[in-house]
Amino acid sequence: MSACDLAIAGAGPAGSTLALALSGLGLRIILIDPRAPGATPIGRRTLALSASSCKIFEALGLWPELLSSASPIEQIHVSEAGHSGMTRLRSGESSRGAFGYTLASDRLEIALQGRLSEAHGVEQLQARVSGFETSSGGVQLSLSGDGPATLQAERVVAADGSESTLRQLAGIPVQRYDYGQIAIAAEVVMGGPQSGIAYERFHREGPVALLPIVSGVGEARFGLVWTATPDEAERLLALPNAAFEAALNARFGGRFPGLKLTAGSRVSFPLSGLKAERLTAPGLLLVANAAQTLHPVAGQGLNLGLRDVAVLADLIAGAVRQGESPGSPTLGQAYEAARKRDRNRIAGSSRGLVQLFGAEPGPVVAGRNLGLHLMTLLPPLRHAFARYGMGLGRRVSRMERGLAP
Ligand SMILES: Cc1cc2nc3c(=O)[nH]c(=O)nc-3n(C[C@H](O)[C@H](O)[C@H](O)COP(=O)(O)OP(=O)(O)OC[C@H]3O[C@@H](n4cnc5c(N)ncnc54)[C@H](O)[C@@H]3O)c2cc1C
Repeated sequence: MSACDLAIAGAGPAGSTLALALSGLGLRIILIDPRAPGATPIGRRTLALSASSCKIFEALGLWPELLSSASPIEQIHVSEAGHSGMTRLRSGESSRGAFGYTLASDRLEIALQGRLSEAHGVEQLQARVSGFETSSGGVQLSLSGDGPATLQAERVVAADGSESTLRQLAGIPVQRYDYGQIAIAAEVVMGGPQSGIAYERFHREGPVALLPIVSGVGEARFGLVWTATPDEAERLLALPNAAFEAALNARFGGRFPGLKLTAGSRVSFPLSGLKAERLTAPGLLLVANAAQTLHPVAGQGLNLGLRDVAVLADLIAGAVRQGESPGSPTLGQAYEAARKRDRNRIAGSSRGLVQLFGAEPGPVVAGRNLGLHLMTLLPPLRHAFARYGMGLGRRVSRMERGLAP
């Protein structure tokens, strides 16, 4: 049986970020995932990163590398089908000069993997966690894979995504929300220079968003997130490229007649959400999608999950510096308490906004839906987040200030 101080199940963006944040503390960390380290990323989509996420990557020393593949969002144009006019939001008052940044999910995965391959004290294991029980020394995990069949750890962190095996094994109840919608992600290109403009248009069936992404000379590229009913999504996914492009242009009221899909397939994601009733069980802590999965059009899931990771990294680093074990029960209580307000607030507001999709479109709905996909990036909410950042609303981790935990 292998032994370590901390096991992290799931090497997605959350688990990988946590492993990197804690590397160098002198802990033996094992990061477990059924996918081989460095395997080709799947499910490419465009992520809108909030200022706090950028700071967290800055704390890892990763932001300069990510920035070369990231695109700033400098303006947001919001419109609603059936209503004339458009709201334009400019990022002039932002100290960073942008509402936030977009980044392709595979770019992020590749950058994190590159760092993990050199990280001190982090070992990557290709296996699936299939069993979990507490033991006198912490927890014992059962693994399915080519390596060891069991692993002893003082503590395990579940970063194993929405259908977290560990959360289920620990019997932590969840509230589930089935939105009955599908998100289609793709990339499109148009002529002309990239302008840093994100476009979002609201429809009775759901919003469609185009997020600016890094482009070649003389072209503007966008990541598409199109929310549709299951029937409509099935039809859209089956369309030849030209017909899909025409349907997308029509969805934007004919505004983008020249748009073309880039090479690569359209990817679809069923939209469901969940929230775990607790973040802890003896020996176990949940982070990111394993703790809460949000509707992706709110553009919040990873941003919130990275804040779970940053707060947990602070607590573990603090405990280790005081000579305590990562398995200390007080650490679990402190983590649960520190994350309560942020996750209740964001999960609740995302769900509330999503519910408005079903409402009759109108000025009130349009106003409240404004910039839904980019919610964290918009001025009124950004002011609220800035208050958070000043420590008025919640504990702000060192990583959210760009500092190592
Ligand atoms: C279309 C779409 C658009 C989105 N846009 C945004 C956005 O703009 N901004 C934003 O902040 N968020 C966005 N999100 C949400 C974001 O993608 C997720 O919140 C984020 O990927 C969650 O990361 P994670 O590491 O928690 O989970 P995951 O990325 O799901 O990773 C979980 C990992 O655990 C591994 N695993 C699973 N089971 C086991 C097991 N038993 N043992 C070991 N390992 C296991 C998996 O192989 C995987 O590598 C979007 C999501 C979608 C679908």
